[in-house]
Amino acid sequence: MILDKPAQVERMQICRNCKFVDYSAKRPTCGKPIIGNIVEYEGNKYRTCGCFLDVKTKFSASACPLGKWGNYKSEKDTLDQARELLERLKATPGRITQAQRQQLNKIYPALIGRKSNVSQCPPCIRTAVKELEEYLSYRPKAKRGRPPKTQKNENLKTEN
Ligand code: SF4
Repeated sequence: MILDKPAQVERMQICRNCKFVDYSAKRPTCGKPIIGNIVEYEGNKYRTCGCFLDVKTKFSASACPLGKWGNYKSEKDTLDQARELLERLKATPGRITQAQRQQLNKIYPALIGRKSNVSQCPPCIRTAVKELEEYLSYRPKAKRGRPPKTQKNENLKTEN
């Protein structure tokens, strides 16, 4: 859903005052353009998303990776959904239902910031799951330093 204009402006204003905004591309991006980068903020490590902010700030489902958008963030809900989804996928190793794949398609761009390419292709799904696991490993407040290694799920197959 597209946010109303005042909310978009509010988000963009927060981004313009953020030290992680990057102006090296033609349009401002959240961290290093396209790929993002790992940053330290208030003692914790986070991954910026590399999104073009003129686009990212428009969508209600998108979220500041550092949680700076206040009332305009939906990040906590999305993070909770992502954790639940990864737990369910771990409980059924090597399998993903269509509903789970659709949920992954929604959560992945909201958190990672890139357009999702999570089709029925098992390598795409594995990559998205691995990136989400990596992203979430940076989120717990108590955790510092290198994230734990992600568990490989090499035999992931899709179900309809
Ligand atoms: S989305 Fe968040 S981290 Fe990225 S530039 Fe904006 S305020 Fe900074």
